[in-house]
Amino acid sequence: MKHEDILKKMTLDEKASMLSGKNFWETMDYDNYGVPVMFLSDGPHGIRKQAAAADQLGLNPSLPATCFPTAASLANTWNEELVQEIGTALGDEAVRLHVNMVLGPGLNVKRNPRCGRCFEYFSEDPYLAGKMAAGMVRGIQSNGIASCIKHFCCNSQEERRLNSDSIVDERALREIYTTGFEIAIKEGGAKSIMSSYNLVNGVYTNENMHVEQDILRNEFGFKGVVVTDWGGENDRVAGLLAGNELEMPGNNGDTDREIIKAVKEGKLDEKVVDEAADNVIDLAIETSKVFKDYKAPVGEIDGQKVTGLNCFPEVKKAHHDCAKNASDETMVLLKNDNAVLPLRKEDKVAVIGDFANAPRFQGAGSSLVNSTQLDNFTDLKNDYHFDYVGYARGFNRYGKLDEKLSKEALALATKADIIVYFMGLDEVTESEGLDRETLNLPYNQIALLRALRSLGKKIVVVLSAGSVVDLSWDVDCDALIHGALSGQAGCNSIVDILNGDVNPSGKLSETYPVAYKDVPSSANFPGHMLTVEYRESIYIGYRYYEKADVQVKYPFGYGLSYTTFEYSSLTVTEDGVKFTIKNTGKYAGKEVAQLYVGLKDSKIFRAVKELKGFHKTKLLQPGESEEVEIKFDDKSFRYFNVATMKWEIEEGTYDIYVGASSADIRLTGTIAKEGTTTKYPYDAKMLPSYYSGKILLVPDSEFKTLYGQEIPSADLHFVNDKHTRIALDRTSVFSDLVYARGWVGRLVGNGLNLVINYGNKHNKGIANAVIMGPYSFPMRAVSRMMGMPMSQSDGLMTIFDGHFFKGLSQFIKGGKEKPKYPKEDHYVKVDKKKKGE
Ligand code: BGC
Repeated sequence: MKHEDILKKMTLDEKASMLSGKNFWETMDYDNYGVPVMFLSDGPHGIRKQAAAADQLGLNPSLPATCFPTAASLANTWNEELVQEIGTALGDEAVRLHVNMVLGPGLNVKRNPRCGRCFEYFSEDPYLAGKMAAGMVRGIQSNGIASCIKHFCCNSQEERRLNSDSIVDERALREIYTTGFEIAIKEGGAKSIMSSYNLVNGVYTNENMHVEQDILRNEFGFKGVVVTDWGGENDRVAGLLAGNELEMPGNNGDTDREIIKAVKEGKLDEKVVDEAADNVIDLAIETSKVFKDYKAPVGEIDGQKVTGLNCFPEVKKAHHDCAKNASDETMVLLKNDNAVLPLRKEDKVAVIGDFANAPRFQGAGSSLVNSTQLDNFTDLKNDYHFDYVGYARGFNRYGKLDEKLSKEALALATKADIIVYFMGLDEVTESEGLDRETLNLPYNQIALLRALRSLGKKIVVVLSAGSVVDLSWDVDCDALIHGALSGQAGCNSIVDILNGDVNPSGKLSETYPVAYKDVPSSANFPGHMLTVEYRESIYIGYRYYEKADVQVKYPFGYGLSYTTFEYSSLTVTEDGVKFTIKNTGKYAGKEVAQLYVGLKDSKIFRAVKELKGFHKTKLLQPGESEEVEIKFDDKSFRYFNVATMKWEIEEGTYDIYVGASSADIRLTGTIAKEGTTTKYPYDAKMLPSYYSGKILLVPDSEFKTLYGQEIPSADLHFVNDKHTRIALDRTSVFSDLVYARGWVGRLVGNGLNLVINYGNKHNKGIANAVIMGPYSFPMRAVSRMMGMPMSQSDGLMTIFDGHFFKGLSQFIKGGKEKPKYPKEDHYVKVDKKKKGE
C-alpha cells in the first residue's frame, strides 16, 4: 500500500468514508491526515464544473469552459494526435478549474443509432473508439490529473439504463464491448474507469466479478480507481469486493455503515477497505499537486466579475482556436455533385435554416458545457467569400409546421443561385436519459428541402446531429456536409469549408444505413423490460452490413475531399503494411487511410473484415506523396476463443485491405499466420445465422447455443395470474410503478405517464429532461442519487408497494436519521436563473 502511514492513523469509519462521495462531486478529505478533497467533473468534451458556492458568488450552473467537439465528431477526424491535443487543452482547463478527475471520455460502442447518448460516444468500431479514447486520456492526464473512461460496459442504450440487463455472449463482450476500454487503459493509461449502470449477464457491472476482476483487473492490468456511475451503486459490499473503490455521489452515510457492519461481522476483510481507501487517497494526493499554481477560478476583468475559464482570457482564446482546429477535421463531406463546393466568389448564396443562427454544437445531459463563446454561422457573414443574399430561419426546429417561416425562406431563395440549408436534430431529441424513437429528422425540414428543390436551385445541406439520421432525402441536395456536433467553434469550420479555405478530411466513424430496419440490433433495441439481448453478437455496424451483404447509404470510413488521392505500392510484412498516398487533385488535403484484416474460410464465424489500423496523412499539397506505415499489433489477428477463454489466432492466410473507406478498398495483399488454436469453439451447424451473418432475427435456440446458457426471462416478476402486479424492491424503476400493488404507487406511476404524455404533446423539452431521466431510476436511486436516507426511501417504496401506514412510519422515522455529513454539504447549489445550452 502506498499510504500505509495515513491508513494506520484512520479509524474504520474514516476509511469507509473515503469510499463514497462527500457530496455530489467531491470525495472526503481529512486535512489532519493530509488527504485532500478530489473534485470530479463531467465531461467528455468540456469541463462542466458546478460550483458549490454558486449562489453566493453568482456563478453560472457550471463554470464557463470551452466546448470542444463531441466524441461523435472527434471520431470522424480519425486523428489520434489531434484528439490528444484536445485532451491536453481539456485537462488544462480542468486544472485551472480545480478538477481532479474528468469524467470522460465515453467510449461505449454504438450498438444502435437510436441510443440517446450516441453523440457522447466515438464509434461502432471498438478499435477506432479505443484509439480515440487513448489519445484523449493521454492528453487529459498529461496535466497531472485523472481521466475516467466510461461507462464500463455494454451500456449502449438509455431506456431503463439503471436496471436493464445486457445479455451478451462472451466473444462479443470481449471483441466488441471491452476492447476499446482495453486500448484506453493499456495505451492511454487511464487512471480511472466508471462502471456502468446496467447489469451484464445478470449481475450489475459494478458487482460483476467477471467484468471487474477477470477482465478489467486481471486481463487489462488496470490499477486505477473504479468509480460508480452516479447513483448506480446497488450492493455496496458486493461492489467493493468486485473492486469498486469509489461510490458516487455521496449518500446519507448508508453505504459507509454497510461497509463497517460487514467488516465487524467478519463478512468483509478490513484489508479490502484499506486497499480501496489507499487507491482513492493516492489519486486524490497525486492529482491535487497540480493545483498549487492556480487560485480559485473567480476574478474581475475590467470591473466585470468573471468565473471559470473567463478568468484566463488568453487560454480562452487559445482553446477556442484549438476547438476550431479540431472541428475543421471533424466535418465529413458526404456528397458534392458537380463540385458545387467549394463555393465561388460569384455564387449568390441564401442561408436558410434555424441551425445557421442557433447552432447545435453539443448534446444534452451530463455532458452539457457552459461554453465560453458560441459563434453562429450568420454572425460570421463578414468571413464569407461568396455573394451572400440573406438569411431565413425556414422552420421550427422542434417540428411544428410554420407556413410563414417556410414562405419567407422560399422568397429569399428566389434571389439566390445556391442555397446553404442547415438541417439537424434539436437539443432534446439527442439527450442522455432517453433514446430516439426514429432516425428521421422532423418532417418540416424535409418538406422545406423539397420545396426549395422545386425552385431548381443548387442546394448544399449542412447537417447538425450527433447520431445517425435517415439520409434518404439527400437525393434533393447537391452537396452534403455532415457537421455532427462539433463544439463551440464548429460554425467557423463550416464557413472555411464552404469558402474552400479548409478541405474536408473527416470520415464516418459509423455506418449510415439505408433504413432503420437494416440496423443489426433493430429487433432487439432497446430490449424488452428487464433484459436487452445482444443477439447480433459481433455483427455491429459494417461487420454486419458487409457479412450479410446489406446495402448501406454511406459506409463506415467514408468521406469525400475537394481533392483526390491515389494509393500505390503496398508491401505487407510481419511488422505491418507500407504504401504510398499521393494527392492527385488540385487542392491541398489530408487523407484517412484504413487498414482492414479478414480471413476467408475461417472455421469460426467472422466479419468479412475488421478495422485494425488507420493513418491520417499530413496536409498533402497537389502532387505531393506520403509514405505510410501502419504497424500490426496484438489485435490485428486475434479473436476471443470461448472454448479456451483466451485470445487466440487462427492459422490461415489473412487478407489485407487498405482503403479510403470500408467499401473503397484500393490495395490488397495477404499474409500467412501460424495459429494458436487447437480447440475450436463453435459447431457451425448449430449457428447458421452467425455463420451466414443473417442475424436480424436469430431464433431463441440458436442464441441460447451461442450464449451458452438459458436466456433469462425479460418479463417483470409478476405476482398475480393476470400479470398486472409486481412486488417492488430497491431495483424496481419508477416506470414500473403502474404495476405496483399499492394504489399510491399506481397513482404515482400513472401520474408520471400523464405528465410525460402531456409534455410530449406540448413541451417536449420539459417532459424529456425533467421526467424521463428519473423515470428509469430504480427505487434505491432516491437515496443513492439524491441523498435521502435509504430507510426513508424504503418507506416510500413500502407505501408504493401497498403498505401505507407501515411505509409512512418508516418514512417519518428515516427522516430523523442523523446524516453523516452536514446536509448543506450534500448538494451542489446551482443558480437556477441561468440555463446551460
Ligand atoms: C452519467 C455519467 C456522468 C454522471 C455525472 C451520470 O448520469 O451517466 O456519464 O458522468 O452522471 O454527471
